Amino acid sequence: MNRKLIAGNWKMNGLRVDLQTVREIATGLAASTAAPEALLCVPATLLAEAARQASGTALCIGGQTCHSQEKGAYTGDVSAPMLKEAGAGFVITGHSERRTGHGETDEIVAAQARAAVNAGLTPIICVGETLDERSSGATLKVIEGQLTGSLDGLEPNSFVLAYEPLWAIGTGKVATPAQIAEVHAFIRQFLEQRFGKPGQTVKILYGGSLNPGNAAEILPISNVDGGLIGGASLKAGDFLAIYNAAAALTV
Ligand code: PEP
Repeated sequence: MNRKLIAGNWKMNGLRVDLQTVREIATGLAASTAAPEALLCVPATLLAEAARQASGTALCIGGQTCHSQEKGAYTGDVSAPMLKEAGAGFVITGHSERRTGHGETDEIVAAQARAAVNAGLTPIICVGETLDERSSGATLKVIEGQLTGSLDGLEPNSFVLAYEPLWAIGTGKVATPAQIAEVHAFIRQFLEQRFGKPGQTVKILYGGSLNPGNAAEILPISNVDGGLIGGASLKAGDFLAIYNAAAALTV
């Protein structure tokens, strides 16, 4: 069985005082190598210090986006080598808040993901449909289009995917187990067709209002290899409860 990955996305939340949460999470993780992987994607300003606090523990630290270029005249942007040097192991690319708020297309997301891989990071590439797309029956078509564009030029063992229905992010509305199972099976099929056998082991995370109350129902679903968690990753107790729900599946 794929080791599950429980990943937090702090978004634009977190000051130095919140490094206490990083420490609490890091010390609350299981030590065993069979335990789920744990990751916190913190704001760029906290990355180096969070990585220092997590050093020597099972907690990985990641960024939330990166530019497709290594360096240059891109005011305000952060490159993948910068994240890597600061201590990141992962970076989220193509989160819907970047796709919609910053005009990041599938082509841009793929270029960012390739830049991440070139810098030694594992990109977590997000895909997901809007409520209108779901209502009109276009979900799988939309996901297929995003996967086709966003995975361009990537090797199967170099990235993680996250299925995040936009209508479930930060809304408290969770996709049903049947909806999650359908899309994750579709993504798995896509990966197998595109990459062959290695496509069977690409991790596919679910994201969208995952919390301690629903984790035990969602994480065991077939082809769900972990979770990408926004709001509930800001509290150590909530993050660890989700992590423990994943850990309970491996014993
Ligand atoms: C996210 O931002 O990736 C996310 C899933 O947020 P939330 O858990 O708050 O819905």
